Amino acid sequence: MKFIIGNWKMNGNTDEKDALLKSLKNSRTKNKVVVCLPFTLLYGNDFGITLGAQDISEHPNGAYTGDISGQMLKDANVKYVIVGHSERRLYHKETNETTRAKATAAIKNGIIPVICVGETATDKNAGRTMSVVKKMLLESVPQKGEYIVAYEPRWAIGTGKTPTYEEIASVMETLHKALIGIKRENIALLYGGSVNQDNAKQIISIKNIDGLLVGGASLKSDTFLPIIKSIE
Ligand code: PEP
Repeated sequence: MKFIIGNWKMNGNTDEKDALLKSLKNSRTKNKVVVCLPFTLLYGNDFGITLGAQDISEHPNGAYTGDISGQMLKDANVKYVIVGHSERRLYHKETNETTRAKATAAIKNGIIPVICVGETATDKNAGRTMSVVKKMLLESVPQKGEYIVAYEPRWAIGTGKTPTYEEIASVMETLHKALIGIKRENIALLYGGSVNQDNAKQIISIKNIDGLLVGGASLKSDTFLPIIKSIE
């Protein structure tokens, strides 16, 4: 069983959500499909597809205007939440420390955090990919509880560019070894960044990859379903 997690980012409306979830229900995949929707769409799932959120507050409740707590997500039947996405790190100045606090808040509420790590183009060009992703991983993951790690090179998100399969394999090996080092060798590892129906099958077959995090291509069934079908 592989994970295929869609990230809608700040896109979509009720009709688009219903259309996608309906087509996913009819697809009867044996893989674990999760759709991470904007907060306003996290209600009334008649199609039985697992839903995720894209952010969570590190605080349990209180005077944090605009934030959404783990308890609220649990109440909305949310099962997964993306934390540490590069867009949160870039536009909201979220750090490894914030990411770890958010992941911990999710776990406390029975929600599985999908913890994102990935180098910038500058890091890559300076040959720092391995040290950067390893540091991000070790500083972002909580000490206890179930979580997933997604490797998402920042320069590959929404750009149509991906690392070579060899580069993805080396980073996955680095992450896998780092997780062994903290006695968490069973943590699922995903790849994300410009996944599409032409590259999904090959990426998923790389050693140590347990699934995919899909942004733009998860918005519509005619681009998301072929990805899911290609890795059956
Ligand atoms: C993402 O935002 O998590 C992502 C992987 O985006 P895209 O697939 O569009 O590159």
